[in-house]
Amino acid sequence: MHEIPYLDLGRIHENIKDELDQAYREVLDRQWFIGGEADHRFEQEFAAYCGARACVGTGNGLDAIRLILLAYGIGEGDEVIVPANTFIATVLAITYVGAKPVFIDADADTYTMDLTRVEEKITARTKAIVVVHLYGRAVDVAPIRDLAKQHDIKIIEDAAQAHGAAVRGVKVGKIGDAAAFSFYPGKNLGALGDAGAVVTDDEELAERVRAYGNYGSYQKYCHVYKGCNSRLDELQAAFLSVKLPHLDAWNEERRKIAKIYSGQITNEKVVLPQMPVDEKEHVFHIYPVLVKEREAFVEHLKRRGIATNIHYPTPIMEQQAYQEFRGQMQQYPVTKRICAEEVSLPLYPGMTEEEILQVIKVVNEF
Ligand SMILES: *Cc1c(COP(=O)(O)O)cnc(C)c1O
Repeated sequence: MHEIPYLDLGRIHENIKDELDQAYREVLDRQWFIGGEADHRFEQEFAAYCGARACVGTGNGLDAIRLILLAYGIGEGDEVIVPANTFIATVLAITYVGAKPVFIDADADTYTMDLTRVEEKITARTKAIVVVHLYGRAVDVAPIRDLAKQHDIKIIEDAAQAHGAAVRGVKVGKIGDAAAFSFYPGKNLGALGDAGAVVTDDEELAERVRAYGNYGSYQKYCHVYKGCNSRLDELQAAFLSVKLPHLDAWNEERRKIAKIYSGQITNEKVVLPQMPVDEKEHVFHIYPVLVKEREAFVEHLKRRGIATNIHYPTPIMEQQAYQEFRGQMQQYPVTKRICAEEVSLPLYPGMTEEEILQVIKVVNEF
């Protein structure tokens, strides 16, 4: 039996191995490992890719969100609106700075935040709305843009799963006031370790983010803020510069696989993800299906050599770390359903046609 992994990074790395080796050697030759040529180059390239003015490398995606909040001065006593259906890092960033997350349920069609519920959640303390382009699907913030402006609320994008996705030609990273990216290896654009970035058109904010991630300092040994250490290193930046030119082709391949899945999975027990009208809105970091009998479904695939994943099995409000939100989950029925029924099918660049058809066949047989 041919085993189909959930994700196989080797398929993309084997084609660019020489370039990655070369990038490593160049960094080693320069003997400069943080805040040098490679960082500067990747920041320029990634800002240009997103169509934004500035990019600041960070240590990871969680820090990218946290640094944006810090740079906006958001903290104790402030409220930040956030989707209940997201990876926990989005919420960790908010509580880390001392702000209060105010949750909104997922939209039943897109699984991203239900924007029609934003207005009722706004209070005098609301400082920001974090939209999450979950599963690779870009959130169109047009319906809340005026509302945010009226109340002087920042729109922050968690773009960790959506590098390259776009709404009406505007790429994520340029949709809100500031955006956080993760380059965790498994993301659509991944480093060979932890890495992240903040992308924004606001150059002053970008410099504040950079200072916060550099011990709160703009100038060596001169500390303006109680900052932290979260920077992109030269090696990861150099690897990311090798990979960035391939991102659009990889995303295109992901879309193609998603389309084949959606066209050929016909099992009525399997709810397929809604396709956006404009296909550029989605880069399918994840292909989520909903299945009532999830355990049996996962087991059925596993027995036939197909690995899957669940994004995410336990609601944030039911995590041990967030006891303060215990018992609130019934207010978020869509998120609750997604947590109970979601299964992510294998999807990665380099997946063969035979593998794609095998997944479809086994899913349809369930
Ligand atoms: C991966 C991810 C993050 C965190 O990124 P790291 O680089 O792992 O810290 C944040 N938000 C979402 C939605 C993610 O998928």
